[in-house]
Amino acid sequence: MSAADCIFCKIVAEEISARIIYQDDELIAIEDINPAAPVHILLIPRKHIPSLNEAGLDDADILGHLQLTAARIANGQGIAASGYRLVSNCGEWGGQTVMHVHYHLLGGRELRWPPG
Ligand code: AMP
Ligand code: ZN
Repeated sequence: MSAADCIFCKIVAEEISARIIYQDDELIAIEDINPAAPVHILLIPRKHIPSLNEAGLDDADILGHLQLTAARIANGQGIAASGYRLVSNCGEWGGQTVMHVHYHLLGGRELRWPPG
């Protein structure tokens, strides 16, 4: 899938609307349309990277920024103390359905481990 057909690129370009929680020059954080927990936010880099498999060393800053921003958003959402999960599904067996790298921030309920 190229960036032109990518739903997250369209959200980044504001061609598709989303509930935006936070945004800056590098990323956008939106509410997941199909939440799996009371707090379910997606952190999406503005740059189209299909998955972690295609991320390079030059993407280290952006990936670090995504993680640290997730922690800040968790704090803002009031789930930092109770705990939360930050997960990036990669590829078919990892359960990735949108081929534009992203992190799920999940919280607001106790999460089980291991995932299914
Ligand atoms: P993954 O399956 O890990 O690739 O995650 C993709 C996530 O994107 C799923 O949790 C979907 O519910 C979510 N999603 C798909 N389309 C949209 C959309 N238009 N707005 C918000 N979330 C979306
Ligand atoms: Zn994309």
